[in-house]
Amino acid sequence: MPTPYLVLARKYRPQRFSDLTGQEHVVRTLTNALQSGRVAHAFLFTGPRGCGKTTTARILARALNCEKGPTPEPCGQCGPCVEIAQGNDVDVQEIDAASNNGVDDVRSLREAAKYLPARDRYKIYIVDEVHMLSGPAFNALLKTLEEPPGHIKFLLATTDPQKLPATILSRVQRHNFQLVPLGKIVTRLREIAQAEGVAVSDGALALVGQQAQGSMRDALSLLDQLFAAHAPGGEIGEEEAAQALGALDRGIVAGIVSAVLRRDAGAALQGIVRAYESGADFKRLADELAAHARNLVLATLPEVRQELPDHELRGLAETARGHDPAQLARVFELLQDAEEDVAKAATPRHALEVALLRAVHLAPSGSLPELVEKVDRAFAKLGGERVAPPAGARLQREVASSARTAAIAEPPVPNGAPPPVAEREPNGAPQSLEDRWRTLISAVKAARKMSQAAALEKGVPLRIVPGTVAVGFKSPNDALALEDVDSRRGVEAAFAGVMGSAVKLVIEKLPAEAAATSLAEEKERAKGERKGRRLQQGREHPAVRAAVEVLGGEIEDVRDLGEE
Ligand SMILES: [Zn+2]
Repeated sequence: MPTPYLVLARKYRPQRFSDLTGQEHVVRTLTNALQSGRVAHAFLFTGPRGCGKTTTARILARALNCEKGPTPEPCGQCGPCVEIAQGNDVDVQEIDAASNNGVDDVRSLREAAKYLPARDRYKIYIVDEVHMLSGPAFNALLKTLEEPPGHIKFLLATTDPQKLPATILSRVQRHNFQLVPLGKIVTRLREIAQAEGVAVSDGALALVGQQAQGSMRDALSLLDQLFAAHAPGGEIGEEEAAQALGALDRGIVAGIVSAVLRRDAGAALQGIVRAYESGADFKRLADELAAHARNLVLATLPEVRQELPDHELRGLAETARGHDPAQLARVFELLQDAEEDVAKAATPRHALEVALLRAVHLAPSGSLPELVEKVDRAFAKLGGERVAPPAGARLQREVASSARTAAIAEPPVPNGAPPPVAEREPNGAPQSLEDRWRTLISAVKAARKMSQAAALEKGVPLRIVPGTVAVGFKSPNDALALEDVDSRRGVEAAFAGVMGSAVKLVIEKLPAEAAATSLAEEKERAKGERKGRRLQQGREHPAVRAAVEVLGGEIEDVRDLGEE
């Protein structure tokens, strides 16, 4: 017995291209190809589930095999037309790659492809969810696609074209199916309701359409569900539809978000009570609240067109007008976060209530100076002193450019370059190899040979003995600046100045996995450590914590003033 939900979808399955809803661009291309007689031997239909890919493949099969064809208008009467619609035409085979990985089907397909069609014009293979084919099945399919016999057509469909090998993609004519727009779904639902003799209000049809989220197949299943729950006679209204489909009353959702925007915690929580009494699932409610907040944000952007019924669009625009766009965006963000919290929570209702209270109390309203004022107040409450003016000014600038980065002042850190030898060791030569190496590099810098000094910093000192300085490099590229004779002489002269006699610079290749670290690597590591320390200090700084509380977001980076 077929499931009752498929009844309408089967009964009203499109039989002709002109019956397809919302895929006009695909229909146009296919119709033109059929009229001009230039039909590819392999098609790939991609797009979300339930938007008509397989249905289109069946119509195309009829168009190709109709006794009066090939024609964009198959007759619907002849043997091929009737049998393809019933799914039992000997020359049209449907393979569902999702059910058995299709490898045997595709192998037998290769065998069968050698023979001419039994009756029809073409042998047609419709492969649904083709991305689910196993590797060997892909190879078998590819072999047939490489040298397609003239009597074979492939109609491939997938929701996930990224998973297809490029070798397949390059051999098919691709058509992208789209989610069906709400308006078109509602129009089609209205036609079907009329044909079925059931009165359904526009609000109820819109609700069904919204729940279907662009899938015509889902829309028809939901309409089935609605009809099944309806006692004969009378019109199906929005409330009845909401109950039958387990949908949330839009009024409750809109009411809660409005209460949050008005900062009315009582009304927001009262909305939760109403939702609970109407049997709402809190996870679903959280999703709907975030979706509604998003719609409000979009309503402030005139260039964005929303697929919603007119009366809803008007309501959204009216609500959005009364609020600062920044506040709307912040509430959207908080409710979006709430979706996740509620999904993970042991008591979803409490998680949702906490999220709403956060949104009521924390979502900012007002201008940037007001926000900075608020940060200062929050900071004072935490027991800190008022932020010093330069840091405050800095904070304001940072907030203006990006609310995700905050900066605090920190005493300048020495930049790591070694001081001149004389300052360091007034009474004698430095002892360790590393210290002597630093001294030598300082001398090269003092001689203004900066690129050579930078190259030496990437090397590892191996030997510093009278007459010879040997340096190892893991990557030969790092030593490029030391290769020409002039560079070397300059470096050797600087070394000689420190060591008191002529020196030869020897460059050696080190294995890449050598444990020794160069000065440059050492500096890089120290910099990373400093940065981690600063980030930690920044996160713990009371002023920063106050700012995060008020503005939301997190501390991603801390920079020195003047470091840009
Ligand atoms: Zn026909």
